[in-house]
Amino acid sequence: MKVGIVGTGMVGSSAAYAMALLGVGNEVVLVDANEKLALAQAEDIAHATPFATTTVVRAGTYAELEGAAVVIIAAGVSQKPGEDRLALLERNVEVFRKVIDGIMAVAGDTILVIASNPVDIMTYAAQKLSGLPPTRVIGSGTILDTARFRNLLGRHLGIAARSVHADILGEHGDSEVAIWSSATAGSMPIIEFAEEIGKPLDAATRRRIAIEVRDAAYTIIAGKGSTYYGIGAGLARIVRAILADERAVLTVSQVTSEITGVKDVALSLPHIVGAGGVAAAIMPSLDAEEAEGLRNSAELIGGYCGKLSF
Ligand code: ADP
Repeated sequence: MKVGIVGTGMVGSSAAYAMALLGVGNEVVLVDANEKLALAQAEDIAHATPFATTTVVRAGTYAELEGAAVVIIAAGVSQKPGEDRLALLERNVEVFRKVIDGIMAVAGDTILVIASNPVDIMTYAAQKLSGLPPTRVIGSGTILDTARFRNLLGRHLGIAARSVHADILGEHGDSEVAIWSSATAGSMPIIEFAEEIGKPLDAATRRRIAIEVRDAAYTIIAGKGSTYYGIGAGLARIVRAILADERAVLTVSQVTSEITGVKDVALSLPHIVGAGGVAAAIMPSLDAEEAEGLRNSAELIGGYCGKLSF
């Protein structure tokens, strides 16, 4: 199946590289306003595939996205000195307007996977601009934050991260919410599990882990300027769930008509992801603090979404 990627900077190209090495899709078409960049990225990644899979990676135009089952959007512009968040958002909405027009003209029933930041607001914008049903516009959301959370918990408990089931929900950003009340290790409530093996998750440890998850991107940015490998792999994971109709439960972002009293907003919840995009959103049971955190997150994102015009 054909997958398109529009925007082949570090994030878009890392997603293409991950898909090429994992064999996600049999053709990946890279589109960028900077045609030379798209071509160079496609060539470089294509040279890696003989060591791995038969996925074809090539540069193309919007016309060559025709029939794409999924298109990742990782295009965007960066902040100008002194520019505020809303002004930057408005410029990125203009980029999305052009990009989505180009995609929808040839692949009107595709599934869009949004990677550009701030991802929840850009997911909202993409859904409004494309006119696709919310189930077919998926933001990478907190997929990576959840992976980091599981990884840190696995390390603390001395168990495999894949045996930890714990989510980060809400905004992909500072207001994200770590969900402890329904987290499990194996099939046991995680707090009980931690007590039993003598590695308690007391309040201070829980706070430290949640802060480490929230600030992971800042630490990476301080060391190397931006983050891309993790999100590249996360995007490949979402695309694989769609192409293989896995019905995997992933914390991705989607426009929802109402959450915790906030109307028409995009944020991450556990979502079932398969061939049609999002098959269902799951609302886990939350304690009072988590519910309050999710409401704050929804209000913050909703505040920005409400200011954008389409
Ligand atoms: P990131 O680190 O998030 O990947 P980059 O700035 O490296 O950010 O990449 C963003 C990419 O989006 C750039 O390659 C840029 O050329 C591309 N881009 C910007 N505007 C458009 C557009 N209108 N159409 C297609 N690509 C675009």
